[in-house]
Amino acid sequence: MRIESGEFIRAAFSEQDFLRDARPQIAFVGRSNVGKSSLLNRLLGRRALARISSRPGRTQAINYFLVNSNVYFVDLPGYGYAQVGKAKRQEWARLIERYFAQGEPQVIQLVDAKVGATPLDIEAFEYLEASGCAPIVVATKSDKVPRGRHRAQMARIAAALEMPDGDRVIAVSARTGEGIQELWRRIEVALGPEARERSAH
Ligand code: GDP
Repeated sequence: MRIESGEFIRAAFSEQDFLRDARPQIAFVGRSNVGKSSLLNRLLGRRALARISSRPGRTQAINYFLVNSNVYFVDLPGYGYAQVGKAKRQEWARLIERYFAQGEPQVIQLVDAKVGATPLDIEAFEYLEASGCAPIVVATKSDKVPRGRHRAQMARIAAALEMPDGDRVIAVSARTGEGIQELWRRIEVALGPEARERSAH
């Protein structure tokens, strides 16, 4: 998929601001500091997404980006940032729940390659599966894990999440570009032939 355009559309702080039109949505979810902003910047190009904030715990909004005029990339607020406090966490959960109640986006869940799947990552994965979204799982910052340990580490994350047999974790690095092409291919497959074709030119 070639990126012709990627523009920030809207930050949704509540359900009234959610975007609901016929375009498919690809939602990115992961704990704060997992490398979500860096990955989005790598996927879509830094200029279009200068808007992406990476200050942990600060952005409680759902940010929508329109890519090639036909698909939304949706940046969900990071979970598990200790300092935001209980009230903020509940606010986060409510916003996320409403977002998932309005449709079934393709979800990309980010897990830190070196840290592995934390209890919160496991909880989020279970929640997503129960909501009917089978997430594509990517392990971020793969450059921090020695090459020789990649396979074992990806398998460990898949096992911790109890991913369905045959589903693989994609090792990605926003720094080196590892796995980015593979992730694009998975996104294209998830989008289906129609969206793929429209994105091809
Ligand atoms: P977010 O809170 O999930 O949006 O995470 P950020 O994208 O802001 O990244 C958090 C930290 O991880 C920053 O210090 C980044 O420089 C670092 N980081 C992000 N991606 C990578 C990566 O691919 N490799 C390495 N080594 N560090 C990364």
